[in-house]
Amino acid sequence: MDHIDSKSGRNSSIFPKQHLMLISALATAVGAILMLLPSSEVKAERNTIPLALDIHQSSPSKTGQPNLNSSKLKPIQLAMATRASSAPTTQEKQITEQPSSQEEVNQAEQWDSVKIKAGSSLSSIFKKQQLSPSLLHTLVTSSSEGKMLNRIRPGQQIEFMRDANGELTRVRYIRNRLESVIFTRNGKSFSAEEITYTPNVQQSFAEGEIEHSLFAAAQQAGISENTTMKLANIFGWDIDFALDMRKGDSFRVIYEENFLDGEKISDGDIVAAQFTNQGKTYTAVRYTDSKGNTDYYAPDGRSMRKAFLRSPVDFARISSRFNLSRKHPVLNKIRAHKGVDYAAGTGTPIRAAGDGKITFAGRKGGYGKVVIIQHGQRYSTLYAHMNGYKRGIRSGKHVKQGSTIGYVGSTGLATGPHLHYEFRENGVHVNPMTVKLPSAKPIAKAEKSTFLAHTQLMISQLEQPATTLALND
Ligand SMILES: [Zn+2]
Repeated sequence: MDHIDSKSGRNSSIFPKQHLMLISALATAVGAILMLLPSSEVKAERNTIPLALDIHQSSPSKTGQPNLNSSKLKPIQLAMATRASSAPTTQEKQITEQPSSQEEVNQAEQWDSVKIKAGSSLSSIFKKQQLSPSLLHTLVTSSSEGKMLNRIRPGQQIEFMRDANGELTRVRYIRNRLESVIFTRNGKSFSAEEITYTPNVQQSFAEGEIEHSLFAAAQQAGISENTTMKLANIFGWDIDFALDMRKGDSFRVIYEENFLDGEKISDGDIVAAQFTNQGKTYTAVRYTDSKGNTDYYAPDGRSMRKAFLRSPVDFARISSRFNLSRKHPVLNKIRAHKGVDYAAGTGTPIRAAGDGKITFAGRKGGYGKVVIIQHGQRYSTLYAHMNGYKRGIRSGKHVKQGSTIGYVGSTGLATGPHLHYEFRENGVHVNPMTVKLPSAKPIAKAEKSTFLAHTQLMISQLEQPATTLALND
């Protein structure tokens, strides 16, 4: 571990040749390119050329390295193929900005910047700028982009540029770090230009050892809560993070960070991770197949997840278990409870237990509002007493595991808000709490060799980050 600390968080060694070959093979396979990013260089990608580039007023002199104080870990800037799926937009259109010329532009043309606050409206902002309502009307209506101005939100920014006579010449609407629109006045109307930046995706390595909790260890390792949750989700099928954690358990993770103008703006996905729990090591590698589906797999190609969630609602209490011989108190005959009841507040999201196709979404007698999902030939799941369906949920729709399909309620014969959940195998009700859940599909045969090459590279980087991770030529 110390080998990382002794460096400055960056490493100037070069990839061993076989790694380079692996990478280029991979890069070719997925159509991605290598990104080697000297930290002092400012890069941003966009699809149009903005009039002035320094939208964010951030100093381009920042190094681009996240400043983590943990003595244990430092992120290492990995230069490697960024899989096509990992970036929000294509990597091919990289344009390198020239900060020097950009500064000159900015000195000549001054933007007057207004931060949008809660409760402020476009008309109040215009009024403060001493701009007429008719000019605002023209701005909003003279281009399709103008309508975006009707959806301004607190935290966003509107900027104004005037000529020497004080006449408005441009308006810039900064929606977020990556998206803005520039409106340029042409006589009696405005033309609009959308500007989109693509963040630089960099990969970082971190590792930690659990002393008290995963979250404490992850925090010490400089990993965000969001990424820690992702880590727990990847291994959550094999490890119960509430019960199984032990002091001395450890993890290693390579994850993506998104940078703009050398400044970190968000975390991306976990690329590969290892978790050692009570002496047993689990490894997961993210892989996107040729159809664009991304999932986490063990090094041998098995899926890290089961085909079904154990419970379709989070943090819910089981209020009635599966019981085939429950005797009905009034009818005095067997009225089996062929599902599991989860007590949860009205409106709690209900998640699809597995990937599948909705075969029914509607009312059904005592079930009230119900959704039935067919998962391949063999399995189906049923969700009853819903308060309502998520928008777009209807018969025939395909859903992904974990996606919200509706909300807990008490429609039909229900004494209080709860989810009644049924699990059928070949048409027969089984207990979803105890049934041996099948694993999700492994890597397809056709993908196996590409997957193995990728996995081999990832594992070498997880296990020997300081020597094989590489760096800037
Ligand atoms: Zn029930």
